[in-house]
Amino acid sequence: MIKERKKLIAGNWKMNGSLGSAASLAVALGEGLDHDPALLTRCDFAVFPPFVHLLVVSQQLPAGVALGAQDCAVTGDGAYTGDISVNMLVDAGCSYVILGHSERRQYHGETDGQIAAKATLCYEKKLTAIICVGETEVQRAEGRQEQVVGEQLARALPSTAKAANTVIAYEPVWAIGTGKTASPEDVKAMHSFIRQRLKEQLAEGGNMRILYGGSVKPDNAEILMSIENVDGALVGGASLKADQFLAIANGVK
Ligand code: PEP
Repeated sequence: MIKERKKLIAGNWKMNGSLGSAASLAVALGEGLDHDPALLTRCDFAVFPPFVHLLVVSQQLPAGVALGAQDCAVTGDGAYTGDISVNMLVDAGCSYVILGHSERRQYHGETDGQIAAKATLCYEKKLTAIICVGETEVQRAEGRQEQVVGEQLARALPSTAKAANTVIAYEPVWAIGTGKTASPEDVKAMHSFIRQRLKEQLAEGGNMRILYGGSVKPDNAEILMSIENVDGALVGGASLKADQFLAIANGVK
């Protein structure tokens, strides 16, 4: 029998803000949760500030909101200028890492093989990997969305992935930051396809969380979060305002 999966509401702050605004956002999240503590019983929360804001956010973040990074290096510590290792992320207080976001795939040429290697490093350090998958607009127009996502899952997910160390985020690339969301029917179909693939690939695939991401906002959160096999949201733009981020969590019934 499938255990009930508590929804995870994850905020990807991307390359936005300053030390001051990041700290203020963390404080505002705390105030919002103080005002509506029941949200913490309905959802798990995590936020993903830029690397250089991690420490200041960790000092202000309320209990019940986990800290994560937007990426990590593909190797351990060493002579890799500009990279940030999983050891450093643990040291900074992280418990999650986003891997394979479409912006990393697009602008940094990140491959499924690198994502799998990074996920394995995360597992060694007890970090939970949020592995992003999703098709482009052209791939969907050609009807290839399941083929694309199926291949990403096959290549990017290590065989050691478990429900406790991995979350999948389905993010159709054309829906990220565009204001377009996938229709509830398309989300249902893709999440059910991903669930099936996870069950075939992994012993714990039936219990792994699958988040939806792509222009999730307060006004579409309730419908999206009610869809079968949608176990939470990866939120970009709307996670930069505490009231909007918490209003999305409020859509979890
Ligand atoms: C994202 O970047 O992961 C994302 C889903 O962004 P947005 O919510 O702004 O579409």
